[in-house]
Amino acid sequence: MVALDGARRIGAKILVSGGGRCNVTHWQVTARDYAGSTPPAIRNVLGRFGVAETVEFFRAQGVEFYREADTGKLFPTTDSARTILDALLVAAREAGVRLVHPAAVTAIERAPAGFHLTGPAGVWQAARVVLATGGCSLPKSGSDGLGFRLAAALGHSLARPIVPALVPLVLPGDHWIRSLSGLALPCRFRLVSGAGKVTAESVGSTLCTHTGLSGPATLDISRHWLVSRVRDPDARLVIDWLPAVPAADLESQWFVQRMIMGGQIEPFDFHKTGFSFTILCGILRGHGFDGFRRVKSFGLFKDTSIVNICA
Ligand SMILES: Cc1cc2nc3c(=O)[nH]c(=O)nc-3n(C[C@H](O)[C@H](O)[C@H](O)COP(=O)(O)OP(=O)(O)OC[C@H]3O[C@@H](n4cnc5c(N)ncnc54)[C@H](O)[C@@H]3O)c2cc1C
Repeated sequence: MVALDGARRIGAKILVSGGGRCNVTHWQVTARDYAGSTPPAIRNVLGRFGVAETVEFFRAQGVEFYREADTGKLFPTTDSARTILDALLVAAREAGVRLVHPAAVTAIERAPAGFHLTGPAGVWQAARVVLATGGCSLPKSGSDGLGFRLAAALGHSLARPIVPALVPLVLPGDHWIRSLSGLALPCRFRLVSGAGKVTAESVGSTLCTHTGLSGPATLDISRHWLVSRVRDPDARLVIDWLPAVPAADLESQWFVQRMIMGGQIEPFDFHKTGFSFTILCGILRGHGFDGFRRVKSFGLFKDTSIVNICA
């Protein structure tokens, strides 16, 4: 068996995975954890090679895992993706695989005895071909989408739209969320179709960055959002900054605060409804306010006001 890889540096994507630590799997994996294919097909694969088999495969190569306490993810005890790459290369060699690289394949044609593969590094004849070229994320790792073209040229159809599965979301340069860069908090994302129906949802840690949003909840909703950009341009992505507080509770908090303030709400007084000061300021800035300061107390009542708009 020959493995042809166009990359000069093998396994570049594995080396960057999990922030260089390579999150190999999770202590518990079910068909529901996968976004592509169909549940029966995934159950079939997991039934043959699930978490136990994965752990055992690597243990046979001398790799042990530890379980991250808060996420349940399994990482090599070395905390190094290099350990995983080395183990895979040794396992391939022991299985009789000859790795040839850099050897990009630029064309595959059917031949009487199988397939004819060509590329700058040479030509190969093969009775069978397994295309494992990755998608088209991170092209510098070697997966630049050529694999899709090779599959299409052989008559396979591609399920479109092709979008990245897990990516941070970039917001316009002047979006107020960018000003919260570095803030991490739990959020709920809801994708609402143009017809007003919630079509996808994710809940979890969310990170505001200098380019937009990242973190597990953002990554999980990203593929649904990117598909909707093509299929349903009127769809909206709605962020709930207080996922632990039901909307009905927020309304009652607001109502109680109206009572605390004697039923009056000055248009430029904002009262704490559970938002942190940073988020509240971000929202205010996003709506055009830039002159506000924090006040400990108005001194009139023991009220809950924290922010006083000056401008
Ligand atoms: C930043 C980042 C972090 C990630 N973190 C994790 C994580 O923690 N845990 C996890 O499980 N997954 C993680 N992933 C995802 C994981 O890396 C990928 O799912 C996995 O690498 C996909 O493996 P693959 O073999 O399908 O494709 P790839 O790893 O992309 O490998 C495909 C190979 O095919 C070669 N190739 C492509 N086209 C040709 C051609 N025409 N001719 C010859 N060779 C070709 C490429 O050079 C490449 O070596 C992460 C991905 C990224 C980008």
